[in-house]
Amino acid sequence: MSRFADVVLPVPLPGLFTYALPDDLSNQVRAGCRVLVPFGTKQTTAALIVKTHDTEPQGVKLKSIISIIDTSPIILDWQLELWQWIADFYMCTLGEVYKAALPAPLKKDKKMKDESSSFREELSTFNFQLPVLSPAQQRAFDEIHACWQQKSVCLLHGVTSSGKTEIYIHLIAEAVARGEQVLYLLPEIVLTSQLTDRLRAVFGDRMGVYHSKYTDVQRTDIWRRQLSDHPFDIIVGVRSSVFLPFTKLGLVIVDEEHETSFKQQDPAPRYHARNVAVYLAAKMHARTLLGTATPSLESYYNARTGKYGLVTLTERFGQVQLPRVEVVNIKELRRQKLMQGPFSPRLLEAMRGALSAGEQVILFQNRRGFAPQLECHICGWVPRCPHCDVALTLHKRVRRMTCHYCGFSTDIPETCPACESAELRQVGFGTERIEDDIHQHFPEARVARMDLDTTRTRAAYEGIIRNFAAHRTDILVGTQMVTKGLDFERVSVVGILSADTMLNQPDFRAWERAFQMMAQVAGRAGRRDRQGLVLLQTKSPELPLISQVVGNEYASMYTMQMTERRQFAYPPFVRLIMMYMKHRNFATIDALSRDATLRLRQHFGTRVLGPDEPPVARVHNMFIRRVIVKLESTLPLSKARHLMQQVRTDLLSQRHYSSATIYFDVDPL
Ligand code: ADP
Ligand code: ZN
Ligand code: ZN
Repeated sequence: MSRFADVVLPVPLPGLFTYALPDDLSNQVRAGCRVLVPFGTKQTTAALIVKTHDTEPQGVKLKSIISIIDTSPIILDWQLELWQWIADFYMCTLGEVYKAALPAPLKKDKKMKDESSSFREELSTFNFQLPVLSPAQQRAFDEIHACWQQKSVCLLHGVTSSGKTEIYIHLIAEAVARGEQVLYLLPEIVLTSQLTDRLRAVFGDRMGVYHSKYTDVQRTDIWRRQLSDHPFDIIVGVRSSVFLPFTKLGLVIVDEEHETSFKQQDPAPRYHARNVAVYLAAKMHARTLLGTATPSLESYYNARTGKYGLVTLTERFGQVQLPRVEVVNIKELRRQKLMQGPFSPRLLEAMRGALSAGEQVILFQNRRGFAPQLECHICGWVPRCPHCDVALTLHKRVRRMTCHYCGFSTDIPETCPACESAELRQVGFGTERIEDDIHQHFPEARVARMDLDTTRTRAAYEGIIRNFAAHRTDILVGTQMVTKGLDFERVSVVGILSADTMLNQPDFRAWERAFQMMAQVAGRAGRRDRQGLVLLQTKSPELPLISQVVGNEYASMYTMQMTERRQFAYPPFVRLIMMYMKHRNFATIDALSRDATLRLRQHFGTRVLGPDEPPVARVHNMFIRRVIVKLESTLPLSKARHLMQQVRTDLLSQRHYSSATIYFDVDPL
């Protein structure tokens, strides 16, 4: 009979908390069960038991566990180990992982209904409606298997529309037939009904979908079901599905593995779901397949250096040709005053051709640097957020200006508050403005816009895709969202309105990302009977990256970027860890960030860069600073992390810094 229990609480405090176990509860609780405990000012808080033991902590007066919530564990032993690994690796607390891992109702004190009986209905028998693989697909399929004989992780580098999804379907069917579970991980925006319908048609009720836009109840249902005697064989899900309680995981597929949205930014844990999935699969002796048309440099490097296997598919399914990419020099056209707003004459002509042939067009405008703003033509005044260091974004239709960082919003002024002139005008070609311009050039065309504003709800997002797929719209204009794995039959022209802001980001990953985005959006063009056309508008047609996009030359992009990464010591040659600091007071943040840098230098010397300001250096009235630590891969990482945590603790223990927030971002994107 254990007399004590160590629990984790959903709070950002480090360590476990020990409570006394009353005699009558002692033989009822187990690791993975929730209990009610008194904590802080709260009378009762739900906590999760990590372990029970008999070692009495010295010199503290223990509080007692009040009651038991679960009679059987809601998380499994290996999950606790995974949480701990994430907390260590990503330098956060176990409580923060606990918060991220469980659907909200499971963090509260509500009992999980014992409904294992409700999942007892018979599942359909194995009889999946599988499409026949093409010879190229079959070869890739066989190669993947051969890879897995030697390595647990395989990277499938297959051009857009090469039929990667069909290969996944075959691999999934095989794993399920062996009695294994499958996790099919996708970026949130790619997990559409277009895809789930396709999978559902094959796997029916053996498959569960785990999406962050689903209700807590739906997600809790899936969690419960996975703990029951009849769990789903296949989970198709977003980032957070790596936290589900798998019991016999055999295969993990990470589709669009290069997608940066696999990394959680805020709040902690700032984990990368692809990397957690690779770790999870290794832990459970499952195999992993990473798939994409444009691998992240990290994964490709792992494949090149032999850590992962590599399988390539260079042709599209059904002899469809890859699109032809044509570069349009908009600098020259601007000079000749031939540009019509964001459109070159060549793009307008191609669009006209496509529309008159009953085909569709996708236009891509990268949001960064193009967010529409207001500017006074006379004095140059730009409306800014009073709480953050950013200009407000103009939303003309709803007549508001909004801060995209804190949500502050205000009316559009009639006159300039600085000089009282009425000459306020819009700068930046946001998607809304482009939509207006399209209407001017093509009044007959049915246009849909896909960006943050038009996709607030999942239904709205799905609606846009459905209408475009059914050809109820002719032109789709949008931000990054239109580059994601959509599969449309009738798109013959894709316009990249400006490559330049993507290329000019002050970020060592800018060119890698630009290549990925452009190659992905280009991949939306092309039909069975005719080669698609991509018009790539840029002011810098001479840049090597542009010709790499034109030739779809991933390998030369890779080689060139890796040369720079090696030369300037960037990932994957080093590991980056950022220390972020936030405080309301400018003087405090200034002193804190200098102090932090000095302290880190004592341990890490010239590996420490900073302090500097992130691109948006004040959000919600909090000033933000960061220090970057570059660690070569030969260094013992756990020791480095420990030292950094120590620096954090020392800083926060000083009275003048104690109200600051300090956190880490490991492998930042
Ligand atoms: P990717 O995931 O590589 O972009 P998809 O798997 O979406 O490519 O395949 C592109 C298109 O080709 C889809 O419309 C898909 O239905 C079709 N396709 C791919 N493989 C097959 C196959 N073996 N049999 C029939 N259709 C296929
Ligand atoms: Zn003015
Ligand atoms: Zn703001």
